[in-house]
Amino acid sequence: MTSHEIRRHFLDFFRSKHHLIVPSAPLVAKNDPTLMFNNSGMAQFKDFFLGNGTPPSKRVADTQKCLRVSGKHNDLEDVGFDTYHHTMFEMLGNWSFGDYFKKEAIAWAWELLTDVYKLPKDRLYVSVFQGDEKDNVPFDQEAFDLWKPIVGEDRIIYGNKKDNFWEMGDTGPCGPCSEIHVDLRSAEEVAEKPGKELVNADHPQVVEIWNLVFMQFNRKADGSLEPLPARHVDTGMGFERLCMAIQGKKSNYDTDVFSGTIRVIEELSGKKYEAGTSMSDVAMRVIADHIRAVSFAIADGLIPSNAKAGYVIRRILRRAIRYGYSYLGMTEPFMTKLVPTLSMQFSDVFPELNAQRDFVATVIREEEIAFLRTLGTGLGRLDHIVADLTAKGERVIPGETVFELNDTFGFPADLTALIAREKGLSIDETGFQQALQQQKTRSRKDAQSSAGDWIELAELDNKVEFVGYDQPDAYAQIVKYRKIQNKQGTQVQVVLDKTPFYAESGGQIGDTGVLELFAGSDQIGTLTVLDTKKENDLVIHIVQDVPGIDDLLTEADSVYAVINTSRRGLIASNHSATHLLHSALREVLGNHVAQKGSYVGPDALRFDFSHFSKVTDEQLAEVERIVNEKIREDIKLDEKRNVPIEQAKQLGATALFGEKYGDFVRVITFDPNYSVELCGGTHVPATGHIGLFKFTGEGSVSTGVRRVEAKTSAGAETLVNEQMALVSELKELLKSPKDVVKAVQTLLDERSALQKQVEALQNEKVQQLKNQLLEKVETVNGHSRLVERVDVPSAESLKQLAYDLKAKVDNLAVVLGADINGKPQLAVMLPDSLIQSKNLNAGQVVKELAKNIKGGGGGQPFFATAGGSDSSGLDAALAQGKELLG
Ligand code: ATP
Ligand code: MG
Repeated sequence: MTSHEIRRHFLDFFRSKHHLIVPSAPLVAKNDPTLMFNNSGMAQFKDFFLGNGTPPSKRVADTQKCLRVSGKHNDLEDVGFDTYHHTMFEMLGNWSFGDYFKKEAIAWAWELLTDVYKLPKDRLYVSVFQGDEKDNVPFDQEAFDLWKPIVGEDRIIYGNKKDNFWEMGDTGPCGPCSEIHVDLRSAEEVAEKPGKELVNADHPQVVEIWNLVFMQFNRKADGSLEPLPARHVDTGMGFERLCMAIQGKKSNYDTDVFSGTIRVIEELSGKKYEAGTSMSDVAMRVIADHIRAVSFAIADGLIPSNAKAGYVIRRILRRAIRYGYSYLGMTEPFMTKLVPTLSMQFSDVFPELNAQRDFVATVIREEEIAFLRTLGTGLGRLDHIVADLTAKGERVIPGETVFELNDTFGFPADLTALIAREKGLSIDETGFQQALQQQKTRSRKDAQSSAGDWIELAELDNKVEFVGYDQPDAYAQIVKYRKIQNKQGTQVQVVLDKTPFYAESGGQIGDTGVLELFAGSDQIGTLTVLDTKKENDLVIHIVQDVPGIDDLLTEADSVYAVINTSRRGLIASNHSATHLLHSALREVLGNHVAQKGSYVGPDALRFDFSHFSKVTDEQLAEVERIVNEKIREDIKLDEKRNVPIEQAKQLGATALFGEKYGDFVRVITFDPNYSVELCGGTHVPATGHIGLFKFTGEGSVSTGVRRVEAKTSAGAETLVNEQMALVSELKELLKSPKDVVKAVQTLLDERSALQKQVEALQNEKVQQLKNQLLEKVETVNGHSRLVERVDVPSAESLKQLAYDLKAKVDNLAVVLGADINGKPQLAVMLPDSLIQSKNLNAGQVVKELAKNIKGGGGGQPFFATAGGSDSSGLDAALAQGKELLG
């Protein structure tokens, strides 16, 4: 059975049991501060278990892309060394949200494994929770009774709290679980030692494949458990391990999930994969594994970088590059060459990779080039460090050194640790963290700000209500405020229960405006809103501090909040134009164009997107033409709020990055056949309001990401006016020619012809000068000497003159002085004979002479120059020169 069939059978099986099949959420976790990456199938359904949302169906199944490289689940260090832990893997799962429970979950798991997949029953073991007295949770009798008739009592293992009791966190849903393990050893090995003894003992062929979690309790803050009213099932099965079991292999890497990629690695490296424990085999496994994690993460919107999730991806990529470099001799980019095979393999289940194949390959290639540039030097440096330490009998690389390697060679600390370990050393992790922290503190010092406590004035019933899509003003209550100190001085943050102010997000900057404060019907003050920002669900108005502001805010019983509408109008123009631009870019450059960032302000707009090469002037002109055409079509805005994400996808909405199943989104459409986007921003009622769109710039932001900048509306009009004024001014200067460009070209041509003439004349003059000087050469003490004041146009020609003279006369000592545009200049040239016999040095001589002209200089023993500030000393310098060279 191929891996494709195995995956399909899983989904078909649960579809036949009335499960809704949903797509995988992106690898990058969204809106979950506790999680950087999705690391299990249930992550995207957390809210349903917590009762914060309603699932699309009570029964759901899927295959979820998981990444276990940080936080609670981190398998990175094992990857490559063992054969069944990956960084990125697929977790097949079925869920019951308050619907079926243990009976069905257990029966179906057994049916699928033994009937559909035909795994031998005598090679399967299951575990049940043995209970925990301290926690007051009983033995899972129910699961035991259900398993016993199908697997037999002797195949049941009793698991402790660590292995067989699952908790979401310190509080919340939890419950016992049953794991299914499979024994894949040969018959001889099984005869020697029963599989039961090897369960949970880290044996590579006796592995856990499926975990069935039964959520039946709720843990309260005081640690006690209470039964959940609605009980849930959450299961997770490692797809790659399942393939190993069904395909009768000894390692995940021997299945067809990895064999295609390993074949390409063999071809690229010229080495054979032996499925053993040699470092070259480890390297091949590391590479085959890491390329998946990195490619899918980039396809899901991440870019390798120096911070947060982007840095985790960069570290994984660098780990693989280094293994290839050290153990497979890969000194040129190679990871990038694995992307095509991988994207073809997953084009049906995870089409996002194939859709962005070229982009992903480019980003990886650029990362490889950059890291390979320093990798060799860094490894050399590390070798020295290790040798030094070993000589001193030390076994720990100091934190400072780890930091330095990170800073100069881009070696992530875990890479240094890995290399150190291979050489029998370790790193001082604490010292490294300290060094890192010190650097952070240094760079953070200026940006420091401090916040006072919130002063609470009213309760907030629910959420802050944003009314700014429909109206520019609103009457509201002050919920709370606080003072903050930062570089701008003191500012006050004010939270209202209701507001028309748009808080900065999705690239659109925050609104400005005023808050009019009322006590009864009296207006007691007006506060200027400088900016609006978001903090979780709160909208924070950043208000200018004024004397007596505390009294004003506490006395006010209502607020009339009004935004600056003309500014908002400009922002809306720029935002809607950004949508038109996005579609036009896709039309002209191709569908690989995806938004990577944006800025939408009243003054201008900026749009970052994936694309590999410079956007040509012709392409920009075409994009601009399309956008302006759409503006003239005056397309009406179609705004839909609270649309389920699935429906938004059907509408063809772009920019689905980070959204997940069950989310509700706002959909902004300008012509369903042209621009449909998920967006929370503010827009013009019809595209005609934008007026005009003009590009102002195009450039590169990072690997594979381009940036365009543009102006719209009044800003674009000003731009055009300025350009036209500039042309008028030029025309006037050029005496109003018919063709300005031709006139300028003629001027440039004339200028370069004149320049050539001037150079020729100067050369001629220097030649004449040289001939005159040759006549002035005197002979003293067995060498030739020339000390003269000359008239040359530049320091460069003075130098040239000295060299020319040297070439004409043997054994010549020269001192030349010149006044070049009011600045004195000296050149000294000495023959070898003088340097040796009199121990003279041109550099020292010129320094000595330069004192006369209030200057300094230097050079080589045979030639040196000096400049100064007092030309009246030139003659004295020359006289002294004559003496020194006498
Ligand atoms: P293990 O003890 O083998 O690390 P786990 O207890 O961490 O597994 P769970 O968190 O229960 O595993 O995840 C459910 C299933 O996902 C496991 O039964 C296993 O098949 C699979 N799995 C877990 N971690 C990995 C990994 N790093 N690579 C591949 N598959 C994994
Ligand atoms: Mg684990």
